[in-house]
Amino acid sequence: MSAAPESASWRYRHEGLRIGGETLNRDRTFAVHHPHTGDRVATVAMATADDVRHAVLVAERFRSRLSRHDRYTILMRARELIDSRREEWARLITMESGLCLKDTDYEVGRACDVLMFAANQALVDDGEIYSCDLTPHGRARKVFTTREPLLGVIGAITPFNHPLNQVVHKVAPAVATNNRLVLKPSEKTPLAALAFADTLYEAGLPPPMFQVVTGDPAEIGPVLIGDPHVELVTFTGGTEVGKRVAASAGYRRTVVELGGTDPAIVLDDADLAETARLVLLGACKNSGQRCTAVKRVLVQAGVADEFVALLTEQARQLRTGDPFDSQTDIGTVIDEQAARRIGAAVDDAVRAGAVLRHGGVRSGAHYAPTVLDHVVPTMAVVTEEVFGPVAPVVRFTTDEEAVQIANSSRYALSAGVFTKGLDRALRFVNELHAGTVNIGEVPGYRIESTPFGGIKDSGLGYKEGVVETMKAYTNVKTFSLPWQ
Ligand code: NAD
Repeated sequence: MSAAPESASWRYRHEGLRIGGETLNRDRTFAVHHPHTGDRVATVAMATADDVRHAVLVAERFRSRLSRHDRYTILMRARELIDSRREEWARLITMESGLCLKDTDYEVGRACDVLMFAANQALVDDGEIYSCDLTPHGRARKVFTTREPLLGVIGAITPFNHPLNQVVHKVAPAVATNNRLVLKPSEKTPLAALAFADTLYEAGLPPPMFQVVTGDPAEIGPVLIGDPHVELVTFTGGTEVGKRVAASAGYRRTVVELGGTDPAIVLDDADLAETARLVLLGACKNSGQRCTAVKRVLVQAGVADEFVALLTEQARQLRTGDPFDSQTDIGTVIDEQAARRIGAAVDDAVRAGAVLRHGGVRSGAHYAPTVLDHVVPTMAVVTEEVFGPVAPVVRFTTDEEAVQIANSSRYALSAGVFTKGLDRALRFVNELHAGTVNIGEVPGYRIESTPFGGIKDSGLGYKEGVVETMKAYTNVKTFSLPWQ
C-alpha cells in the first residue's frame, strides 16, 4: 500500500503525544489510514499507562492564574489561527476521516464558533448575589456565588465523527474556566486533536492546561478515567462504551454524550419539498455520521408517497466520491468495516419487507445515500443507531402514533418536527422524549453555545454547548458578607 495519497501537499506524519509542552514519540505506534484510498497517512505514538498518569500529574501540579482577558485572548487567537488556515484544517480532517471537504470546511467553521463563544463567555461574570433580609428571620447580609475551576483534572474522551469540533467543544470551555484537561481522542482520527493542541500552544496556552494522549483505548482509557487526580470525566461516543465509562468513573462528575436514533417527523401539513431537502441532508451530511443525524423519518400516511418521491429525488442529486473533490457531497464513512455494517442493516431491513427506493450500494468505505421505504419501527435499521447516510421512512397515521413511535426508542437525543400548525408543533415539543425539539428544522440544528445533550440511552441529561460545559467544569462557591 502506498504511503502517499494523491492529495496535494500532504506529508506523511509521525505524530507524538503532547505532554507537558513536549512532543513525545514512542516505539509503539499505530497507523491512521485515509478511508477513501486505504493509504496509510500517519503513524501516531501509543501512550503507555505511565504516559497517561504522567500527563495527569503534570496537569494536576499546574495551577492556572490566567485572567479572564488572558483566556479570551488565547481562545480568540486560536480561532484566528484556525480561520486563517481553514483550508489546511479541512484537508487534514478529510485525510483522516474520509469526510468530504464540504463537510470538513463546515466543521472548521463550527470549531471557530466554539472558540469565539468560549472566549466571549470567559468575559462574562458568572456570580450571583442573594440579599438575606428577605424574611422576618433574615439578617443584614448578602450571599455571593463565584465559580472556581475544578481542584482536579478533567479527563476527556472524544469520538471519530467530528475530529476537530468534538475536541474543541471539550477543550475551549476548559480554557475559558482555567481548568486543566487531558484528552484521549479517537484512535481513528487523532490528527486534528494533536494539531489543535499545537494551535493552542501557539496562541499562548500554558501546555499543562491541555495535553493529548493517543493509543489503544482499552489500554489507556481506563487509566485516564480511573486516575485519582481526575475529578471530572467527559465522554462523547457510543452508548455501549459510554455506559462502561460512566460505570467505571465511580465517584466523579461524569458527562456522557452518547448515541441517538433521532426522528424527523413529517406531518401532513408540512411544506413537503423544503422538508425533503432538509431531511435528506439531515440524514446524509457528514456521511450520516452525526449523533443527531436523521436516523428515522416518520411520515404521515396521506403524504408519504409524495414525500418519499421527493426524498428519493433529493438523494439522486447528491454526489458521492473522492472526498477531496470540492464538488463531492458525501465522502466515505470511517472505514470499510463501518460501511459493511451499514449495508448489512439495510439488507436485513429489505429482507424483512422494507422497500429500497435509492442507494443500498457499497464500494470500499463509501456507502451511497439510501432511501428505504415501508420500514417498520421494530426493524434494527431504526431501533439501532445506523451511523451512515440512510433515510429509513416509517409511515404513521395519527399524531399520537407519531409520538408513540418516536418515544419507543431507547435513545432520546434530538428530534425535528415539520408542520405549519402551532398547536401540533407545541404538542410534539411537550410530548417527545428528547433533549432538543426543532420545529421546521432537522434534529441536529443548534448553535455552539446553546445547551445540547440527550436523556435515556443518549446521555444522563447534563448538557454540553459552551455555556453548559463551562458550568459543568466549575465548582460553585458561596460566600457571605455583612451588609448594611
Ligand atoms: P466509540 O464509543 O466507539 O468511541 C468513542 C471514544 O471512546 C473513542 O475515543 C474510543 O477510543 C474510546 N474508547 C473505546 N473504548 C474505550 C474504553 N474501554 N475506555 C475508554 N475509552 C474508550 O464511538 P465512536 O464510534 O468513536 O463515535 C460514534 C458514536 O459517538 C456514535 O454512537 C455517536 O452517536 C456518538 N456521538 C455522540 C455525540 C453526542 O453529543 N451525543 C456526538 C458525537 C458522536
